[in-house]
Amino acid sequence: MNVHIIRDEHCPLAVYQNVFEKLSKSAGVIRFIKSMDDALITDDTDDMFDEKEGESKNKYRFLSFSQLYDICENYRKKHSIDKNDHVFLLSGANNYQNWFSNMDYQGNNYFVQVTEWELFFGTEIEVSFLLCYHVMAWLLKRKLFSSEDEVMAAVHTKAKGCMMDFCQDKRDITLKIRTADVCPVCLNIIKSKDVPFNFLNQVFSLWEEIRKNIVFRERAEFLNKMGRIIINPSKKTLFFPEYGDILVKLQPKEMAFYQLFISEPNGINLNSLRDHAKTLKHYYFIITGNDDISATENIYAIHDNVASQLISRINKKLVDNLGETLASYYIIERTMNEPHKILINREYVNL
Ligand SMILES: [Zn+2]
Repeated sequence: MNVHIIRDEHCPLAVYQNVFEKLSKSAGVIRFIKSMDDALITDDTDDMFDEKEGESKNKYRFLSFSQLYDICENYRKKHSIDKNDHVFLLSGANNYQNWFSNMDYQGNNYFVQVTEWELFFGTEIEVSFLLCYHVMAWLLKRKLFSSEDEVMAAVHTKAKGCMMDFCQDKRDITLKIRTADVCPVCLNIIKSKDVPFNFLNQVFSLWEEIRKNIVFRERAEFLNKMGRIIINPSKKTLFFPEYGDILVKLQPKEMAFYQLFISEPNGINLNSLRDHAKTLKHYYFIITGNDDISATENIYAIHDNVASQLISRINKKLVDNLGETLASYYIIERTMNEPHKILINREYVNL
């Protein structure tokens, strides 16, 4: 099953990228294909993220269902997409019917709205998880039902934490996604339709990850509980298994810099960065195999603000992925007259 994930101009590229990465990481028969309209770079650069993009202008933009499906249709024509392939639009626009997402059966076209989730989940949520939930839910519904009437006949008007909850009251969406499950009635429908096991497995595994992520965040705040951070210098990744397998990719310099601050629990005064040049060079060498001192030199040459820029880029990636509250333990930050430091207790750090 081929599923093309595309976006309109009101969906920020960063949101698109996060959704696509999570989907494409899920293993199974559903093959997710990147939009051919975005020249997305697959390596570890973050220069393509345009934060201004998609903001403010989408606020009062409304489209009809058919206008949203037209965007999918135009994409199909432009790139000669097979009619059996599925096209999923991540849209930054609202729709007149005020739905989160919907499907056009005839065309195998779908959309999900990427905005306004904070109204229901607060600003701490990583929106790409919610969008991935919808993508998987619609693909499963497509397998189970052959028309919109069939779907409408099977929806639950009273929310019970099932994929088929209609969510007339939009606030019910939180129950549906926190559960990320199907009720016994719907499980029977799934059994009767002979949905391939590996298809179901892919849907349920991703849902499980989403559920884990949302529930852990809520509990972590409540219990003030920390998740582990697993640092992999050679892959240049920071991995947070307890927050729903969140993976943050860093550039080589960012990785070396982060490692340096992890190695100094008491923090580092940016003015004395030069004292750590040897350690920094060592970390950079392990990551890149490049022991050229000039490659690390500009990091601690404070006058050109490279260090501050690196810190703000690392911190932005962490906040984008973890939300502000959780990220506050992992970012490199300066409080009062203290040096810059990472707060996380090092017993939660695996290197
Ligand atoms: Zn159900």
